[in-house]
Amino acid sequence: MTTTPSGTARAKNTQRRRASVRRRGVAAASRLSLRAKAKRSVLTGTCHCGAVRIDVPRRPRMLTSCNCSICRRYGVLWAYYRAADVHLVCKAGATQAYSWGRKALKFVRCATCGCVMNWERVPARKVDYMGVNARNLAPGIWGTVRIRLLDGADTWKYLD
Ligand SMILES: [Zn+2]
Repeated sequence: MTTTPSGTARAKNTQRRRASVRRRGVAAASRLSLRAKAKRSVLTGTCHCGAVRIDVPRRPRMLTSCNCSICRRYGVLWAYYRAADVHLVCKAGATQAYSWGRKALKFVRCATCGCVMNWERVPARKVDYMGVNARNLAPGIWGTVRIRLLDGADTWKYLD
């Protein structure tokens, strides 16, 4: 059987169209899965040496720079999440904690490199919040999120 030139051209066109539909299909599928991932997946940060990982459920809506006696020394930026949504992943003994005074809060840091990971309440409450040090998240994750100045040293109000 011989194929006429026009038949060949038509076949090629069909092939091209099919390939382009396939490509569009793949692109649409990966866009969908990215959107699904953005909803479901966690964002991850680590301490400097990598011994401690912290998973948070989403990009922070804002970050807090607090001037209280401990935060100003640590130089951290806090992102707040429900405690149940945050996961610290590390081997036993990989972290240390610091509390003082009434010891109602503990500040958790990597025992190796010293990076501050988070603060949490002691004892934990049923529905609890915690502060996660966004400095351990890649800068691209929090990028342009607004940083607010909290007067934790005195009035407990935002200064801006
Ligand atoms: Zn470390």
